[in-house]
Amino acid sequence: TIKKELGEYDDAEELTETYQEQLKDKSIPTKIKQKIRKELKRLGQMSPNNPESGYIRAWLETIFDLPWGDRDEQKIDLIKAEKILNSNHYGLSDVKDRILEYIAVLQLKKAKEKRKKKKKKKLTNSTNQESPTILCFVGPPGVGKTSIGRAIAKSLGRKFTKISLGGIRDEAQIRGHRRTYVGAMPGRIIKGIKQAESLNPVFILDEIDKVGKDFRGDPSAALLEVLDPEQNKNFEDHYLDFPFDLSEVIFITTANTLDTIPPALRDRLEIIRYPGYTFDEKFNIAKKHLMKKVLHSNGLDSSQINITDGALKKIIQRYTKEAGVRELERQLNKTCRKVAKKIVAHQTKQKTKTKAKQKKISVKKNLLKKYLGPEKYDLTLAEEEDQIGVATGLAWTRTGGDILFIEVGLTPGKGKIRLTGKLGEVMKESAQTALTFVKANAKKLKIDEDRFDKTDVHIHVPEGAVPKDGPSAGITMATAIASAFTNKSVKRELAMTGEITLRGRVLRIGGLKEKVIAAHLAGIKQIIIPEKNKRDLSEISADIKKQINFKPVNSALEVLGLTLNKRS
Ligand code: ADP
Repeated sequence: TIKKELGEYDDAEELTETYQEQLKDKSIPTKIKQKIRKELKRLGQMSPNNPESGYIRAWLETIFDLPWGDRDEQKIDLIKAEKILNSNHYGLSDVKDRILEYIAVLQLKKAKEKRKKKKKKKLTNSTNQESPTILCFVGPPGVGKTSIGRAIAKSLGRKFTKISLGGIRDEAQIRGHRRTYVGAMPGRIIKGIKQAESLNPVFILDEIDKVGKDFRGDPSAALLEVLDPEQNKNFEDHYLDFPFDLSEVIFITTANTLDTIPPALRDRLEIIRYPGYTFDEKFNIAKKHLMKKVLHSNGLDSSQINITDGALKKIIQRYTKEAGVRELERQLNKTCRKVAKKIVAHQTKQKTKTKAKQKKISVKKNLLKKYLGPEKYDLTLAEEEDQIGVATGLAWTRTGGDILFIEVGLTPGKGKIRLTGKLGEVMKESAQTALTFVKANAKKLKIDEDRFDKTDVHIHVPEGAVPKDGPSAGITMATAIASAFTNKSVKRELAMTGEITLRGRVLRIGGLKEKVIAAHLAGIKQIIIPEKNKRDLSEISADIKKQINFKPVNSALEVLGLTLNKRS
């Protein structure tokens, strides 16, 4: 009666009634419906001014916003899937093959499940759903990981959604906060589902290698639950406070590197590598795909602008330095924006005079400076002279392969070694090993052994701000050190990669494909590789193999024989 007197009763009643109505329409599982009804009952007995009522209403809104019962099903058609993958992406044939296999398996599993369900229906209702493996796309930025994810969604006829995990340190960002928190919200997984507007989307978890952890809990433990087919049928989001079924979602993760993914998580993932693009691939991607996109987003069409092949090549070589094509896309956008401005300015002028047709604007190689400013990168190493104490190595980084130079300087001293250039522990040890190897082989190299005690060795790897690590620069360091002590210059055009042992054996290294692509972009013609890496050459395109001469070696002495020039 008091409530009625205060006029609160009607409001609350009305509110719960509308919610009850909404609840009827939604295909929410019965158990969850029961929970919602309970909350509705509480809401009905509450004054709307009670802050608790606000929380409950926000919770209900969130739940009603979820895509209950919305699924996108489509018969899987491999030929169509292949067409979709090919129509949006140039190259990447290994990746596409692997994805088609994945789609085929998905189809077989689905068919098997259906048969099982039919059989089981008579006995029980429970289904032992077999979920697909979780794919993990590993590669530098801008190589098409996300856009392949989108193409997979399209070819399966499912919705697509993506969340970034970069920098997440708090478990609550995955699982949400309990409702009693002020400003509580569901976690990112549930938000992703809401965004997808479907219960079975293709869901990209971006940058899984950048998940951190601290005192607020370990997000990777929550992620494990999300990705585990055994557990994700009953995913617990703290905010929702009831188990949510994620088992129909196709999760795909992406990462730049595998090193920082917690091992338990990595175990679950099926790795697909994106090694980065060669010059020719970039050129073709730009011509066949990026140009279309860039023209469209700048309101232009191909009758208004033409970027010549020469200009395009120059943009790739002199204005970008990357494994992917993101920067390239940006530079093309920039060019098109400038052209768009020119066209509009011309049209405005023309309006006052006659209506002459705008001529097609041709962006030529020698005009690029006008559009993009001065060149950003130098092309080749060939322009540089062979020097004493500088050797060319190949590195693997999160952003793809790269070439690096190792410099050695000798100063009178007491046989100490100094290392600079932000080198990691492994790389430092590798430098020590290389020095010991040179010392041990002094006679063969015709170095006066007494010199070592009277000389300090300083090894520097330029671009000091970039952290570098790994053992694969071993033979490069040995070459630079031997060159400095023997006064023989090093062939600059010859790049090398390989771990060195104290006895001078050359060991296998990782990331060869990425390194070779970077070397190719830099115009290197010869690469020394460990004999044991010879089998990896099968992954490298025939085109590159035609242009680069690979020299497999077993020992560091062989390396020195190949790299050092005769004393001039
Ligand atoms: P990532 O997720 O690996 O960082 P994206 O998928 O965002 O990279 O790709 C960046 C851009 O490059 C997108 O516009 C994408 O469509 C384009 N792209 C990348 N690889 C290819 C390719 N092989 N063919 C066509 N376009 C590509």
